Amino acid sequence: MAEEITMEKIVSLAKRRGFVFQSSEIYGGQNGAWDYGPLGVALKNNIAANWWKTMTQQYDGIVGLDAAILMHPRVWEASGHVENFTDPLVDCKKCKARFRADQIPPLNLVSKTCPECGGELTDIRNFNLMFKTHSGAVEDSSSTLYLRPETAQGIYVNYKNISQSYRMKIPFGIAQIGKAFRNEIVTKNFIFRTCEFEQMEMQFFVKPGTDNVWFDEWKKRRWQYYEKLGIKGDHLRWHQHGPDELAHYAKDAYDIEYLFPMGWRELEGVHNRSNYDLSRHAQYSGKDLQYIDQESAPVERYIPFIIETSAGLTRTLLMVLCDAYDEDTVDGEARTVLRFHPALAPITVAVLPLMKKDGLAELAHRIRDDIRNDFVTDYDQSGLIGRRYRRQDEAGTPFCITVDYQSKEDGTVTLRFRDSMEQIRIPRTAIGDRLRQDIKQYRRTAADTRPH
Ligand code: ATP
Repeated sequence: MAEEITMEKIVSLAKRRGFVFQSSEIYGGQNGAWDYGPLGVALKNNIAANWWKTMTQQYDGIVGLDAAILMHPRVWEASGHVENFTDPLVDCKKCKARFRADQIPPLNLVSKTCPECGGELTDIRNFNLMFKTHSGAVEDSSSTLYLRPETAQGIYVNYKNISQSYRMKIPFGIAQIGKAFRNEIVTKNFIFRTCEFEQMEMQFFVKPGTDNVWFDEWKKRRWQYYEKLGIKGDHLRWHQHGPDELAHYAKDAYDIEYLFPMGWRELEGVHNRSNYDLSRHAQYSGKDLQYIDQESAPVERYIPFIIETSAGLTRTLLMVLCDAYDEDTVDGEARTVLRFHPALAPITVAVLPLMKKDGLAELAHRIRDDIRNDFVTDYDQSGLIGRRYRRQDEAGTPFCITVDYQSKEDGTVTLRFRDSMEQIRIPRTAIGDRLRQDIKQYRRTAADTRPH
């Protein structure tokens, strides 16, 4: 079955149904940039809201932040990005293809031949991934700014502001969702690796010596997060960074990998960043970034260690699309269905009158008005009812309400479930409670989680 879910299918569905479009498509597209259409932006917002809720609302001691994208250029010297945030680059002199040296077979590097055309390769150069820009009218080195390549640094430079103004006591965390930019050498696989993307990062500040325990705790919690969303268990695995892979700041690092159509790839990193970042910011800024533990006797001062959970929002969206994608056959016809968790689905419930006439459309509108304050709804009255169900299945809408002649008589409606296609009759006054309960109790059935 594995071959069935291809990136082509995902890309084509994403475009057909308005999840994701190429940026500036009418001009031939902009490499590494994508636009999120009506269903895509709803899905992205829902993923972000779900992550935010899990991290802040459901966890004592994690607060939020929204820091600026443009930061003082010294931040990136202190963080090590100016010096170290590079990828090894090689070009083919013949076909002009460009590769990340660590992503082509070592044999090609030794023989210096292009893996695509056999032409001669250049020497390896280190290429800094940060986008540079300038502030003000004069473009000289003193006006250089960077578009942030990660959201984490905005958190580190605000750690004192937050701990003091909000009286946070260690251990505590700061969560942030926002744009990040990387001048990636090779952008491929749709929205998997892009130049402009969004991250959902949480930095957890702990006392040195307790970092290993907290590292394990956050590994556990982040794994549970995906389980709770019903992501296929056999499509998730851990990958520990070996000594060669460890970033310059990291003491230990694990990635949660997902089995995308192109293979196992990183989805999220859980890193023990030690006290590297705060020590460097203390050194470069000249500010005392020690935490003062007033409750210990005698009073203790230390630079906290940081456990980071760093997930790509746009990459998670791709994962959610791939994980939800399914094809089955209904009444001899092929059906494409996105089995989104209802908490993530762009549309929660569609209201469909069986017919436009005989007052059914008006009744359906009234029913939709009853629930639209509490749920994201859609309304569709065009075409055969079976077609309309298929359209909602393809958009991943978990529930449909159908309004028919009986609804006029006794005030009941049909509630249809996307996954099982089961239909039940309930009073229209019970719709809200029933949906809330089904969303809360949602589990993917065994058939839906079968390995693909
Ligand atoms: P890679 O080694 O694949 O370049 P990384 O290890 O540098 O990635 P991190 O710096 O740990 O990635 O970034 C944290 C998360 O941000 C990643 O797990 C991923 O989900 C997301 N991310 C990083 N780079 C990109 C990108 N270019 N496009 C989309 N998402 C990205």
